[in-house]
Amino acid sequence: MKIIMLGAPGAGKGTHAKGIVEAYHIPTISTGDIFRQNIKEGTELGKKAKSYMDAGELVPDELVCDLVVDRLEKDDAKDGYILDGFPRTIPQAEALTAALKEKGTAIDYALDIEMSDQAIIDRMAGRRVCSGCGATYHIVNIPPKKEGVCDSCGGTLELRKDDTPETVKKRLDVYHEQTAPLIAYYKEQGILHEIDGSLGVEGVKAKVKEILGE
Ligand code: AMP
Repeated sequence: MKIIMLGAPGAGKGTHAKGIVEAYHIPTISTGDIFRQNIKEGTELGKKAKSYMDAGELVPDELVCDLVVDRLEKDDAKDGYILDGFPRTIPQAEALTAALKEKGTAIDYALDIEMSDQAIIDRMAGRRVCSGCGATYHIVNIPPKKEGVCDSCGGTLELRKDDTPETVKKRLDVYHEQTAPLIAYYKEQGILHEIDGSLGVEGVKAKVKEILGE
């Protein structure tokens, strides 16, 4: 089962992907997480990606596409995967379609988590990320057991640098301009499913289950 999570930054793609992982045992591949890991490790890729990310802009397609296609070759992705944060532009989607077609396969589901810009701005202000393992929390909706401390690894929870209100506004502009056209792209392919993100974690989980089946 090959799944793409669509939706604006902060719509909860990562959170909902986690629910799917638990139910279907396929890995999540998050390009944002891959970049953040590379920044942490100080790699060349991390250095190149950082300035774009801090400004709320997209990392250029040529730095993203090969990276994802290589990642999909790994053993753990052979029975399927969830792509979180990729593709984000029409050229990325076309590159993915072409790479999969070469292997005689294709994406099965594109799940679009819909949220209004205002709801996203409100939600991002409360989002916290573990500096150790990258797990995400929300101070109201998904609080950790102990304030400021990750339940999984005990790491410190932080506000992501690109979750500040100014950067969030920029990221939403970029989303509407460059990523939202993917909704029509996958609709045309007949694999788009729109889900109301305001249903909350359990509500969305139930919808996803309905769509993907048991
Ligand atoms: P995310 O964690 O998915 O919100 O990604 C954080 C940031 O990483 C984005 O704002 C972009 O700067 C960069 N990024 C992640 N995925 C992509 C992608 N598929 N294409 C371009 N930039 C990306």
